[in-house]
Amino acid sequence: MDLILDTHSHTIVSGHAYNTINEMAKSAADKGLKLLAITEHAPAMPGASSYMYFLNFKVLRREKYGIKLLFGVEFNIVDKEGSVDLQGDAANAVDIGIASMHQPCYKTGTAEENLHAYIKAMQNPHVNIIGHPDDGRFPVDMEKLVLAAKEHHVLLELNNASLNPRGFRKNTEENDIRMLNFCKKYNQPIVIGSDAHVEDDVGNFELALKVIEKTDFPEELVINTSIDKLYEYLAQ
Ligand SMILES: [Zn+2]
Ligand SMILES: [Zn+2]
Repeated sequence: MDLILDTHSHTIVSGHAYNTINEMAKSAADKGLKLLAITEHAPAMPGASSYMYFLNFKVLRREKYGIKLLFGVEFNIVDKEGSVDLQGDAANAVDIGIASMHQPCYKTGTAEENLHAYIKAMQNPHVNIIGHPDDGRFPVDMEKLVLAAKEHHVLLELNNASLNPRGFRKNTEENDIRMLNFCKKYNQPIVIGSDAHVEDDVGNFELALKVIEKTDFPEELVINTSIDKLYEYLAQ
């Protein structure tokens, strides 16, 4: 499977990541990717950047080192109504939006409350991807989540970093397997994100690919093989 794009990465601006935009872009180009999305944590995450940072994305070139760059945001879902922490002109300025549940920005509810929050976030026109819905600290009915993603034309992310045994997220592999099986059943595409917080991890899909293999997940449902397929999900 030729994975040519990575939709999830962070730079020093996110407060707990370690490289610059140029370093991340260079690493993506060196690894043969054709597109990298840099998706900084939104302001509710401790140490993340401000409204103004996102607002000024207009100055950034969308091509560098021969690859396409997207400048986006990883929104924090902040409440049970699926509210997120970047709005207005700054949200309008981003090329791609991921919405995720993180500690300490979101206090988990029941599986039903979490599902409701995700569905409300999917209805936000700036949200293109639900990030790492595999985190067992925020339980959710995976079948209903997949059906909602299909209805709202939003991608679900298979997050490589989630599968790192040293990570904070819980029961990620079993939740990913359930997600992929329902995506297969309902013909819902997924996107693999490295969630790189350091240049070495740009385009690192190693652990995700193992789960793809384990579930015999069809290549045509993996968005990372085609820029056009991704753009179809970014069109508002
Ligand atoms: Zn992070
Ligand atoms: Zn995240």
